[in-house]
Amino acid sequence: MRILVINSGSSSLKYQLINMEENKVLAKGLCDRIGVGNSFLKHTKAGNDTVVLDKDMYNHKVAIREVINVLTDKKYGVISSMDDITAVGHRVVHGGEKFKQSVIINESVMKTIRECIELAPLHNPANITGIEACREVMPDKPMVAVFDTAFHQTMPKHAYLYAIPYEAYEKYSIRKYGFHGTSHMYVSQRAAAMLNRPISELKLISCHLGNGASICAVKGGQSVETSMGFTPLAGLAMGTRSGDIDPAVVLYLMQKEQMSIDKINEYLNKKSGVLGISGVSSDFRDIETAADSGNDRAKLATDIFCYRVKKYIGEYAAVMGGVDAVIFTAGIGENNSLVRAQILKDLEYMGIKVDEEKNKLRGMEIDISTDDAKVRTLVIPTNEELAIARETIRLVKN
Ligand code: AMP
Repeated sequence: MRILVINSGSSSLKYQLINMEENKVLAKGLCDRIGVGNSFLKHTKAGNDTVVLDKDMYNHKVAIREVINVLTDKKYGVISSMDDITAVGHRVVHGGEKFKQSVIINESVMKTIRECIELAPLHNPANITGIEACREVMPDKPMVAVFDTAFHQTMPKHAYLYAIPYEAYEKYSIRKYGFHGTSHMYVSQRAAAMLNRPISELKLISCHLGNGASICAVKGGQSVETSMGFTPLAGLAMGTRSGDIDPAVVLYLMQKEQMSIDKINEYLNKKSGVLGISGVSSDFRDIETAADSGNDRAKLATDIFCYRVKKYIGEYAAVMGGVDAVIFTAGIGENNSLVRAQILKDLEYMGIKVDEEKNKLRGMEIDISTDDAKVRTLVIPTNEELAIARETIRLVKN
């Protein structure tokens, strides 16, 4: 069985074709600059070099056609026809409260995803465009929507409600939703497999640390708390996002700097976080280089980032009444051993102890704890596409 996984942005479309019997990516790629001119398709057939093909893609429907063309191409392709694709799995950012798990896409599902646009005005329209394009090009193919928010729908009400008048929840659905759900779900399932224990028995803290970053408390396989909120702006300090902030600061800044809603939105989402503190970059590789050459603010940005992650680990251990394993994933979580070491420093009292040599390894699933650590520390490369493909198969089989 082969599943095509689609992650559609406003002017881009990422794809992966996965062979589910072998959990193997057959081909993957990206259509970029769709509808904005000079569009191109970047394609990698497993085991081959990446090729960049100039393709005139004036909308997503044309882009999907090009994806099918390249997947069935004699030279670059991996299948002989569209019939070789069993089903399509789509990443959808926001499922609101309506979608508590992945669903087979039909007209009524599309209507509900459209209703969630209000909650994710930047992301859901692009996801919808991708789904509609696929449905036009492959009308008979079963399609599944997998939501970033769905995994967190198990949070209890006292965790997801903000302490503002209850009417805000009733009237505008203002509450914590959480994001990165597919990643947190995938790495927690892998953690259970690595620990060789049923997930129903485990208390896990999953740290997805990338340019966007969030932490999730996973108890018995279910999300019970997470750091992102109504939007992906909340929680940790991120590449360019502020994370948690006293809401009064927003009002104060708007007044002092005469900022419009758009300006403050850009300030908190694009100019803050590690970039805002360091003034150097949003990328931790640049931050590390600058800090090594004596840039104090780059060092401070790292300190703030690590301090927040540490605080959340303590908080979530309290929320779950303990923790069996802490998981690190995504760009920083998987690759930056210095950041991991700084976050976990002085947590021995919790039973967390890291083996310095193991912590240097990368690019694989690994338990980096010392043998005597009571709480395991796991580095697990995330694989959201595989998780989406698995959800797709699960639903299509049913
Ligand atoms: P992501 O959003 O998951 O792609 O993560 C982006 C972040 O991960 C950036 O801050 C990068 O500095 C960091 N990162 C990605 N790859 C590496 C790597 N090979 N070594 C160190 N840091 C990395």
